[in-house]
Amino acid sequence: MKLLNAGNNKTVKGEKWGWRTYGLHLAPYNLSGKNVCSHASIGCAEACLNTAGRGIMHTVQKARIKKTKWFFEERDSFLKQLVKEIKSRTKSAIKNNLTPCFRLNLTSDLAWEKIMPLQFILFPHLQFYDYTKIKKRYERYLDGELPSNYHLTYSRSETTPDKEVHDLCGRGGNVAVVFKDYLPATWQGIRVVDGDINDLRFQDPSGIIVGLKAKGLATKDKTGFVVEP
Ligand code: SF4
Repeated sequence: MKLLNAGNNKTVKGEKWGWRTYGLHLAPYNLSGKNVCSHASIGCAEACLNTAGRGIMHTVQKARIKKTKWFFEERDSFLKQLVKEIKSRTKSAIKNNLTPCFRLNLTSDLAWEKIMPLQFILFPHLQFYDYTKIKKRYERYLDGELPSNYHLTYSRSETTPDKEVHDLCGRGGNVAVVFKDYLPATWQGIRVVDGDINDLRFQDPSGIIVGLKAKGLATKDKTGFVVEP
């Protein structure tokens, strides 16, 4: 079974900027029976992009569950396959005159820096990036404790205090916020950058809000996960 996909509707936009994202879709939250999103909120789990695009298909959901079970049940062979694909996808992107980058948490929130620390060292020239809802993990990132080729954006949910957003942005971090209908120029006095133009979060300036417009199930959110601009 292949682990990495050459992006989705969002990540494919990066090709205009010369990047190709390869991503890993696991079954989010506890859909596989194992929780891969330890800090998911009710709002984000309900609005999760797991069912966006091809994710709506039963076969795609089944494959994501299978991959997640593989990850938990046979970690060594899973990581061996992942590394093999990182190498082959790198070659394929270069062949197409694109620079590869990797997002291993398309629909999960796992600390890959702990799961495969050596692999980041093995691929120092490759860019990895993700969003996370794990505050301690994000603080470790801001403190420079993650591999230098792994970029993280903090992801706000309805349980995130506004003060936390200000503190993290004040420390040079970036926080993704989902907005209803349109993106404001600023939110709570912090500059908002359009995060829907592409998914290349590692190219964002620091200390900003990454604004994302509510899509799919998020448009029906009632928890406060989606905010009024
Ligand atoms: S943490 Fe992310 S991947 Fe997990 S359920 Fe929430 S939105 Fe989905």
